[in-house]
Amino acid sequence: MKSKIVWIQGVTCNGNSHSFLNYQNLDIFLKKVEFLYHPLLPSKYSLKELYEKRFDFDVLIVEGAIKKRYERGIVSLYTLIEKLSLKAKKIIAVGTCATFGGVFKSYDEKNIKGLIFDGEEKKGFFKELEEKVINIPGCPAHPEWLIYVLNMIEAKKKILLDDFLRPKEIYAYTVHSGCIRNEYFEWKVDAKSFGTKEGCLFYEQGCQAPYTHGSCNKILWNEVNSKTRVGMPCLGCTEPTFMKEEPFKTKTYMSIPANMPLGVPKRAYLTLTGVAKSFKIERLTKRLIDES
Ligand code: SF4
Ligand code: SF4
Repeated sequence: MKSKIVWIQGVTCNGNSHSFLNYQNLDIFLKKVEFLYHPLLPSKYSLKELYEKRFDFDVLIVEGAIKKRYERGIVSLYTLIEKLSLKAKKIIAVGTCATFGGVFKSYDEKNIKGLIFDGEEKKGFFKELEEKVINIPGCPAHPEWLIYVLNMIEAKKKILLDDFLRPKEIYAYTVHSGCIRNEYFEWKVDAKSFGTKEGCLFYEQGCQAPYTHGSCNKILWNEVNSKTRVGMPCLGCTEPTFMKEEPFKTKTYMSIPANMPLGVPKRAYLTLTGVAKSFKIERLTKRLIDES
């Protein structure tokens, strides 16, 4: 039997829906599931029917942040989630707005939250639903992350979660892991601008990948690329602290990062950095492709 899914939206830009629609094998996936409601896809019910009719389903997907008095169709978003959450076997918060409040929080800090979390704190509007919820943050979330979770739910397999209810299979890595610029990071060779092939984007362009959990450099976007591969710094969008006030800056004190890359002791980092900086690696300081 096909999995029955209801996908509703809170305060959102539609980004996670669009990311999902970009999934490379969407046509195959859509044959396996039935959308009882999705704002952009052909659905069995309207939003009004969704609220009024009685039915059970497998997964409730929530995209977008929660604001208590935000209206969706004929009822408030809060009431809609309250009602639908009772019927769903599992709930997925997709995207950083639904998980942590995301970019909309800066507009109304107090009243905009995620489902379970309010930023880093477990003070979301629906924290009592924790047992049912899986968080897939990202701005937007990679479509394959969502498909992975839906497939695991359908196969009734256990999904191990971290402290922010993110699947470990996807978020145990940092985005730094798998970046093709790692050699530049190790030898402290900086990229001088966006879009170049050479250099690491950490010090001068504010790359957040060493602090950010996600598999963007392992599961590539559109199966070909990632931000850091193309020369754009990671903005840390899968973390509850997203969005930073100064997105393109890595905070430093006397040329030392204010925060160490995740899990790296300060002393070890400083020792390695000192050694790396004392060598000049000819190959890494030249253009990779010489146009002359
Ligand atoms: S560009 Fe970012 S992800 Fe890549 S090596 Fe540098 S810090 Fe790590
Ligand atoms: S590279 Fe960073 S900013 Fe970009 S999607 Fe991945 S986690 Fe988000």
